[in-house]
Amino acid sequence: MKIIKFFNPESLGNSYAVVSNKNFVLIDCSQTPESVAAQIGGFNIDKTTVGGDKANKDCLVCKGILITHVHYDHICELDKWANLGASVYATKEIFESMRTDANLSNLFSKTCDIHVPIDQRVNLDGMKEISIANLNFQLLLLKGHSKSDICYIIGDHIFVGDLIFYGGAYGRYDMFGGDIKELQKSLDRLNTLPNNFIVHSGHDKDFELGQFKPYLVC
Ligand SMILES: [Zn+2]
Repeated sequence: MKIIKFFNPESLGNSYAVVSNKNFVLIDCSQTPESVAAQIGGFNIDKTTVGGDKANKDCLVCKGILITHVHYDHICELDKWANLGASVYATKEIFESMRTDANLSNLFSKTCDIHVPIDQRVNLDGMKEISIANLNFQLLLLKGHSKSDICYIIGDHIFVGDLIFYGGAYGRYDMFGGDIKELQKSLDRLNTLPNNFIVHSGHDKDFELGQFKPYLVC
């Protein structure tokens, strides 16, 4: 398994590809398909290399897109992937907020109306784990930075969206859907995880969880 990090200089958001054999899963979606193709190689953009069923065996296949939360800087290119037929994984709350002001696109001076067709949605509510191709993710459904924040764990790696950042900072709770009490509960849950977990945040650098655990108090 390999993890590739992408940075969008306009939204300042990170997104990630988790690659195994000829498959990959995207975590968050602030990169266009063209940008991902340019950065990971072996991925050709057409319907056969996103849906997967008819993929050329020599090409990488995007098996799905996991969303950490609904904020615009993490999903701003999702429409383009959905148009290619990609399956998208998120909670009902996230899917329903993509088309509303809850995605906070106004903060980026954008009007964002993202829509994922119903038959491409995989609802994660109530799920503790998900397998996509040969990639097995544990899920933590948390709240506080938004109404629905999801962490994805695979091996020693955890993708936390905007819940925590390098240096021990935590996500804002003062925007729509944020809640300081819920955020503290989420930080407490993250505090119970192994120190050696590598944290991949929605912004800034990766780090070892144990390094900043003492600061996870809001
Ligand atoms: Zn956010």
